[in-house]
Amino acid sequence: MKTLKGQPTSPGYAEGTAFVYNRGPAGGVPRYQIDRDQVDAEHDRFLQAMERSAEELQSLRSKIKSELGQAEADIFAAHLSLLHDESFRRRTRERIDRDLVNVEQAVDAEISDLAKALEEVENEYIRERAKDVHDVKRRVLKHLGHGPEEDLKNLPPGSILVAAELFPSDTLGLDREHVSAIVMEHGGETGHAAILARAMGIPAVTGAAHATEVIKPGDHVHVDGQSGEVTVTPSEEAENAFVSFKARRDDEAARAADEYAGPCTTRDGTTIQLLANISRPEEASLPEMASLEGIGLFRTEYLFLGRAVPPTERQQEEVYSAIAAAVAPRPTVIRTLDLGGDKKPAFLVDTFEANPNLGMRGLRFSLAERELFQTQLRAIARTALTGNVRVLFPMVLGTDDFCAAADLFRQACHEIELDDVPQIGAMIETPSAVFELDRIAAEADFLSVGTNDLVQYVLAADRNTEGLTGRLGLHPAMVRVLRHIAEGSSTAEREVSVCGELAGVSDLARLLVGLGFRSLSMAPRRSPAVRRTLCESDLAELEGIARRAVHCRNENEVSKLLGTLGSGLS
Ligand code: PEP
Ligand code: MG
Repeated sequence: MKTLKGQPTSPGYAEGTAFVYNRGPAGGVPRYQIDRDQVDAEHDRFLQAMERSAEELQSLRSKIKSELGQAEADIFAAHLSLLHDESFRRRTRERIDRDLVNVEQAVDAEISDLAKALEEVENEYIRERAKDVHDVKRRVLKHLGHGPEEDLKNLPPGSILVAAELFPSDTLGLDREHVSAIVMEHGGETGHAAILARAMGIPAVTGAAHATEVIKPGDHVHVDGQSGEVTVTPSEEAENAFVSFKARRDDEAARAADEYAGPCTTRDGTTIQLLANISRPEEASLPEMASLEGIGLFRTEYLFLGRAVPPTERQQEEVYSAIAAAVAPRPTVIRTLDLGGDKKPAFLVDTFEANPNLGMRGLRFSLAERELFQTQLRAIARTALTGNVRVLFPMVLGTDDFCAAADLFRQACHEIELDDVPQIGAMIETPSAVFELDRIAAEADFLSVGTNDLVQYVLAADRNTEGLTGRLGLHPAMVRVLRHIAEGSSTAEREVSVCGELAGVSDLARLLVGLGFRSLSMAPRRSPAVRRTLCESDLAELEGIARRAVHCRNENEVSKLLGTLGSGLS
């Protein structure tokens, strides 16, 4: 038995038989010289392979669009634009003419040069694009008769796919019925393959060093998408433990979903509104959505990432309307772009900053990129012609930026003759917004607390640093800040919801209710557990805990206090 430790990238537990994926044509790219009178024939082969690759990608893109959605389908935009790029085609043909080499060699050289240039760029997003370029090479080589050894579409049932790295097209081409889990040596949580694995509900672990060497084809493997642990050829004892653990977890999840599917009401009759946070349109149709009261946060920036050009007003409107229709008549809160920070769109790569979380992010970014912002606001306004939507601005600092954005939205509504302007909300996720709460509340129709960023900025703790902000979310300073927001919203008689990750952790949800919040928005998959916990709670008890939490001296004391309530923090 061997154990590998990687990064948990897509949750869930799975066991199965290892399928070790070795990409690329066996024996590498064929290389040979050609005669001058063979040049035209090589040009023809090149053209055909490019056309077939483009056709194949186009049909894969349509399939993905219908099965997963526009955002996932657009991952192939960069691939297709390279395949149609005239200067790439011309350079490859010139290489064939000049060096008298076969087309495979010319394609390999051209694409390797391009990938190398991309890999040297400091910006991580651009470096990631080098993978798309390699993906195009593989596809073109396949159509020149040099396909990969294994076909990922025909994996045997119960496979654990083990690879050095997967391209987005590898992941999208997978037969998800047959793939129990994915283990990769490389690729982070934010890589496209990982994003897609999550979208497909396939447990995944990335960063499992030497996985393709340690794990042999046919090995029995356990994958824990919660802890990042991969166990190869487990002992009988480990096998039994894993099987019963997995069964218990699956059972708990199913029970939580079944038992508490109705409204969320504490034992004493206090009703708590539970809403969904979504990032991709398909999540609006998850089964857990049936018992949620609407979408409390749609993170629209994911529509803009991974694209060579931003989506048009019409494209955005289509997506927003589809989401609003999926949850109607319940409301959908559309948060405007929170680009910047670690979310850099391909079409604005030159805005690189050394400290992006403190730079052009959120509303600051949108107000600077006026045209992009106004296009989005018009798309939201158009959606409101037929759908029940509200608009929410991220990273608000005070009334100045909030009112500037709100005016732009009202103007967008006016332009399309929408008289009933949808409600306009402000995210409270910067320390500045906490101090300006009363004034923001006077201008905004509703408030939404982004604890992920609030923890980061209040406690000077990078939200991307593993294991740091989760614990610090319990710091007494955060408890006090949250109490201040709950009280301030109540004084201003403004509706307030919490949409940061804290709201989706059962014990913290109890603390939030104890502090006075009555609306929580979370990843739909987390809602059954939160609902169950709150339905089993009593408001007076939660308020007592919250009062004591305010007087704790550190996060350990708060944690202990919450632990006395029940299950402890996950
Ligand atoms: C937050 O900051 O808590 C939040 C909900 O927004 P995001 O995670 O998208 O920054
Ligand atoms: Mg935020």
